[in-house]
Amino acid sequence: MNYYGKREGVLASTNGIAFEIYVVGCEGYCKGCHSPHLWDKNQGVLMDEEFYNSLISYMKEKEWQFDNIVLLGGEPLDNPKKKILEFVEKMKIFNKPLWLYTHFELNEIDEDIKQSFDYIKTGKYNENLRNDNYISRGVGLISTNQKINKRGEDY
Ligand code: SF4
Repeated sequence: MNYYGKREGVLASTNGIAFEIYVVGCEGYCKGCHSPHLWDKNQGVLMDEEFYNSLISYMKEKEWQFDNIVLLGGEPLDNPKKKILEFVEKMKIFNKPLWLYTHFELNEIDEDIKQSFDYIKTGKYNENLRNDNYISRGVGLISTNQKINKRGEDY
């Protein structure tokens, strides 16, 4: 799995202040995609041990500045499952809610992946269903087929 970048202090993607981690690669090819520059998985930085050591030490310094950690892309789940689970293991050190943004639906996601995240945003971007006022669980999403799902309630 390759890292593209991070965004800090984000208010729009969760129910608090988010630390967002973007990975590359996506085979969703949604019409009207807002981030086609992330489709190519042969870019970015390999998320190996050295990478995680550096990221985690950076996040430790900022820990008081975020409530939630979000994994998004691209499409995180187009990466090998063990890489997603490795990410989850590494982030456990922060003991904060983990969010996953994916275009897949709940019934398309493996149970162990689902149970590893506290919240999962599901659904492909559908420009025909675009609604700039649409909100799911307090989070503004782009198209009305998308949803924020909560572990223990939706899966
Ligand atoms: S899942 Fe996201 S990144 Fe992938 S094509 Fe759809 S909108 Fe673009």
